Amino acid sequence: MKTYFITHDTCVKHSAGAGHPENGQRLQAIFDALAEKNIALEKRIAEKVSVDYLPLVHTSAHIEKVLAAHGKKTMFDADTHTNEHSVDAALYAAGAGVEAVDLVLQEPGSTAFCAVRPPGHHAESNRVMGFCLLNSVAIAAAYAIKYKGLQRVLIFDPDVHHGNGTQEIFYHRGDVFYASIHQFPHYPGTGRYEEKGVGDGVGKNANYPLRCGEGDETYIYLAQHAIVDIIKEYKPQLILFSAGFDAHELDPLGGMQVTCQGFCAMYSVIMRHALAEKIPFVYTLEGGYSLNALSSSIHLLLETITTESWPQVSRVIPPEYVKKLLHQ
Ligand SMILES: [Zn+2]
Repeated sequence: MKTYFITHDTCVKHSAGAGHPENGQRLQAIFDALAEKNIALEKRIAEKVSVDYLPLVHTSAHIEKVLAAHGKKTMFDADTHTNEHSVDAALYAAGAGVEAVDLVLQEPGSTAFCAVRPPGHHAESNRVMGFCLLNSVAIAAAYAIKYKGLQRVLIFDPDVHHGNGTQEIFYHRGDVFYASIHQFPHYPGTGRYEEKGVGDGVGKNANYPLRCGEGDETYIYLAQHAIVDIIKEYKPQLILFSAGFDAHELDPLGGMQVTCQGFCAMYSVIMRHALAEKIPFVYTLEGGYSLNALSSSIHLLLETITTESWPQVSRVIPPEYVKKLLHQ
């Protein structure tokens, strides 16, 4: 299928300091892997998000704080630092998400992958956190609701870390469903099964906390059942993948055992269902800190999507832990 690949050089230049795992080599490794083998991508250079869209998910205090770091070295917390390019990079990252939403809604049957950084899913409405300044996937979802007239957007986040920011932003809202598979207990400490939303958001927040060491079988099972069931019931008009690849077995920041083929199979289960139901979907990069695992996983995924060579994924019997989890 037609696949837009949206990025910006400034996203490579953002640095949170020497030796930081979330560094520009991550994007460079992805670009290099894609250049090695010709994958038919429609490449786009991201534009900065309009600052008018930031209040859709962030407080004015948060926006002021982030924009005040423009062009400067700032230390927001122990692991969230900026250099002179970081705020621009965050604005391009959020802009890529908005553009991706525009593209897939304009052109049914197309999709988009936003190869951007810094990541976004730990950024809360009023808090910079966990390498994240602006919550790009949340901005894209809120933009689709407010400016594209959608009523239901699903964000699926299989990053190894729970997306506390995305959950917090939409916890009280019924128009954006947040579903996460993550290692637990693990950073940032949120993401319990019992956290299911409040007010209009009740039942529109689903967490699948997994113990350290779970792998392909568990992720594919949850895609086949939990996530596809959410799609069947909630009937989203758009799916945003908060695409972290740090649940990979080689990742230094996670303890999971997912393989490149496992990510591809998990996403393929969901994508095939979405395609059958004509639900557009977009990928926005979150974590993934093994350069090899990150670039290989994305290479395989994009090759699969562009050639529509979906892997045969057999039905998985619920692994023991997931059986317990789903019957809590
Ligand atoms: Zn992560």
